[in-house]
Amino acid sequence: MNTEVVNPATEQVVATVPSTSAADADAAIERAHRALPAWRAVAPGDRARLLRRFAEAVDSDVDNLASLEVANSGHTIGNARWEAGNVRDVLHYYAAAPERLFGRQIPVPGGVNVTFAEPLGVVGVIVPWNFPMPIAGWGFAPALAAGNTVVLKPAELTPLTAIRLGELAREAGIGEDVFQVLPGRGSVVGQRFVDHPLVRKVVFTGSTEVGRGIMAGCAAQVKRVTLELGGKNANIVFADADLERAAATAPYGVFDNAGQDCCARSRILVQRSAFDRFLGLLEPAVRGVVVGDPASERTEMGPLISAGHLASVSSYVDDEVEVAFRGSAPEGPGYWFPPTVVLPRTPTDRTVVDEVFGPVVTVQAFDDEADALRMANDTDYGLSGSIWTRDVGRALRVARGVEAGNLSVNSHSSVRYWTPFGGMKQSGLGRELGPDALDAFTETKNVFIATEGES
Ligand code: NAP
Ligand code: MG
Repeated sequence: MNTEVVNPATEQVVATVPSTSAADADAAIERAHRALPAWRAVAPGDRARLLRRFAEAVDSDVDNLASLEVANSGHTIGNARWEAGNVRDVLHYYAAAPERLFGRQIPVPGGVNVTFAEPLGVVGVIVPWNFPMPIAGWGFAPALAAGNTVVLKPAELTPLTAIRLGELAREAGIGEDVFQVLPGRGSVVGQRFVDHPLVRKVVFTGSTEVGRGIMAGCAAQVKRVTLELGGKNANIVFADADLERAAATAPYGVFDNAGQDCCARSRILVQRSAFDRFLGLLEPAVRGVVVGDPASERTEMGPLISAGHLASVSSYVDDEVEVAFRGSAPEGPGYWFPPTVVLPRTPTDRTVVDEVFGPVVTVQAFDDEADALRMANDTDYGLSGSIWTRDVGRALRVARGVEAGNLSVNSHSSVRYWTPFGGMKQSGLGRELGPDALDAFTETKNVFIATEGES
């Protein structure tokens, strides 16, 4: 079976990719298992060098990878270059891990006690379509560094950059069974990662609904699992904030990648005394977002990923919904949806509760700090969020009070590869990136060695 890969900005087929069958996925998992002893025996410095070579191969291919992502996913060329560069940087960062993956010596009587950070085995990485490159790298780079072998399933809609990353790994000298890319359906290939006993850990990024099923499936074998799921993140703007900057940046905090971002700040909460002024400043900022050809250097927002997703996003902005104002979107082919600002009628409106995963943002008023926290936390999700205020004490109080894994003050940034990333509540389980990600790809083994004749 084959999958036709479609350019979402033009609706043209750009490639045809064979889909991996369940039997082929099983064979790949078994090869990955057989490759384990040799890969974990590679000297730490040599494994590090292979990962650095992989990083350099990605660096040499940044423009090609970025073009593939523009064509496959409709990402703006600027974003796509950043995403390819992120894979390079994450590989370089975890290339420093193999020689530093040490255990501890713990004092005990009658002997020596040491711990080892053992690899888990075959790790299955399941990637969604919204950030095909970075999310793949956040899984495979630390997994490989820790001595695991990896099978990776890209989303059916967006396999092209993952396939290219697999080729670059081989060019860098990483064994073909050490890192395998298996395009295909989630219900086929992804499900084999969950069910096959030789896969010892599943790294899943995607919807909360599918993630829940993955976790339940993994429970049957007590299989390790990391989940990065959805978000419905608050951008909290206090009246004492730099309102001009808060308003100028708010569109980019939610409309980047056409809102198809689990960290999108899709609920703007504004202190009531500043509400009208903020909305007045937000309107020109939203109308100013440059939406169009993703290959153009000027473009700030591209299309949605598919016709199905366009229908889903559109369903949130029906006649019942009060639209404050909108930005622009091209006419003609492509899955375009304009940046849209909604004024919800009730706190239970679908636009307030659901992760729309498109360029739709709600703006609501709050009265005081307690009210802001109550509204921000009134969701099953807990991934990210922003806090705008000039009061340092308040910034810290609110940052500690918001139930989310990644917060930014007077900024909308969520992701740095050297700091931890992940969600609270139903936004996920575990953390990726940063200094501790290796813990999620190793298991601690404790060994006692007697130094006395009898013990
Ligand atoms: P999705 O439907 O959950 O799919 C994610 C991945 O899981 C895809 O590769 C999909 O394969 C696969 N999959 C589907 N069913 C499966 C099954 N039964 N067993 C194993 N794998 C299965 O999510 P999506 O629609 O691609 O992505 C959008 C969602 O991802 C949003 O909710 C978003 O918030 C979330 N997300 C979260 C983060 C984060 O870091 N927290 C980052 C990005 C996205 P197919 O190719 O068949 O679809
Ligand atoms: Mg899906």
